[in-house]
Amino acid sequence: MQAERKALVIGGGIAGMSAAIALRQAGLSVDVCDRDPHWKVYGAGITITGPTLRAMGRLGVLDEVLRQGYAADGIDVCSTDGRKLMTIDTRSDALGGIPSAGGILRPTLHSIISARLLTLGPTMMLGVTVETLENEADHVNIVFSTGKSARYDLVVGADGIYSRTRQQLFPDAPRPHYAGQYCWRLMMPRHPDILRRTFFLGGQGKVGLNPVSPDSMYMFYVEAQAEPIWRDETKQHLLLSELLSPYGGVLKDVRNKLTASSQIVCRPLETVFVGEDWTKGRTVLIGDAAHATTPQLASGAGMGIEDGLVLGEEIGRNVDIAAGLSAFMARRYDRCKLVVDSSLEISRLEREQAPPAAQTAVVERALATLNEEF
Ligand SMILES: Cc1cc2nc3c(=O)[nH]c(=O)nc-3n(C[C@H](O)[C@H](O)[C@H](O)COP(=O)(O)OP(=O)(O)OC[C@H]3O[C@@H](n4cnc5c(N)ncnc54)[C@H](O)[C@@H]3O)c2cc1C
Repeated sequence: MQAERKALVIGGGIAGMSAAIALRQAGLSVDVCDRDPHWKVYGAGITITGPTLRAMGRLGVLDEVLRQGYAADGIDVCSTDGRKLMTIDTRSDALGGIPSAGGILRPTLHSIISARLLTLGPTMMLGVTVETLENEADHVNIVFSTGKSARYDLVVGADGIYSRTRQQLFPDAPRPHYAGQYCWRLMMPRHPDILRRTFFLGGQGKVGLNPVSPDSMYMFYVEAQAEPIWRDETKQHLLLSELLSPYGGVLKDVRNKLTASSQIVCRPLETVFVGEDWTKGRTVLIGDAAHATTPQLASGAGMGIEDGLVLGEEIGRNVDIAAGLSAFMARRYDRCKLVVDSSLEISRLEREQAPPAAQTAVVERALATLNEEF
């Protein structure tokens, strides 16, 4: 009988938790370390695409996500005055009846996925990070920030866009870089006219409203800025109000309700793509650590969830870790590259204020490919 294989997942975010679930489902013993002692997630809503919901089904969290979030097919595309121009059909036979779009609050998603993970009995090490990592031929030696050391058959770096594991494994890898845009997000009660993801195209920025539960939704506004700039957080509502001033329809209502206490987050968008191989020996990068995308396709977290799922499937079906990792790369590279490249292409079209049809064509093309099984 084969001895139980042992994996360490560094980072308990969306990608790391998904990998830990899938590796437990494949029968490995799993330790997870996260540097955050409270294992908390902050932030607004998140959009979930059909393929992401499909992956969630295989991780055992779909029913709860649909119960606590919001799902509806299609994307309504409106002009700046709020008139509906078209609905992009996001449905696909490849999704096998799963809704093709949805949204959820980030903290709600974190609590659903973490609850599922904890039922599978991993060892959680919170407030702990990795000091040193050494790949040997048949194991990986780890020394933790606590001073404790351990040996693993597999180590997964899921520690996000500023990944320390990436620096340790690939010191020459590209660094995250600013993508020329800021993303504003605002939480608010769901407007009765917003029934699905809704984009407002043709203005200076790209604006969208996404329901995340029957009662709540979030707005995003993607703003072009050639260089990162400093902003006074106490005046964010005034600046956002100015950015929304050319818009009519529901966005006019949203603007009229902005106050100093509105829940607004504004962040520069960054991206990084490690290259053709995210593995070294018995270690692998997943999620934003390997391929952080700008959010135009709302698929960054989705790719991290799929990475985790596929890693568990391939390590489960391959006794040899190297064979499992190479099968993982073969299934993940093209898909994640498509998301990063298409998102940057849409970002460029947005910054050039290209016609809405040119922008939606890239979205439709990429979503059709992502809907396919992989
Ligand atoms: C503005 C914006 C909007 C977005 N909207 C969407 C969307 O609508 N839909 C979508 O699918 N995606 C979206 N994304 C992308 C999505 O947020 C990310 O792709 C996703 O959160 C990445 O998950 P991750 O687990 O790889 O990394 P993270 O979420 O960053 O998690 C990393 C984890 O590792 C831990 N950690 C970090 N360093 C260490 C260390 N050294 N040791 C131990 N632990 C460590 C952290 O505490 C954290 O828990 C958006 C991104 C942005 C910026």
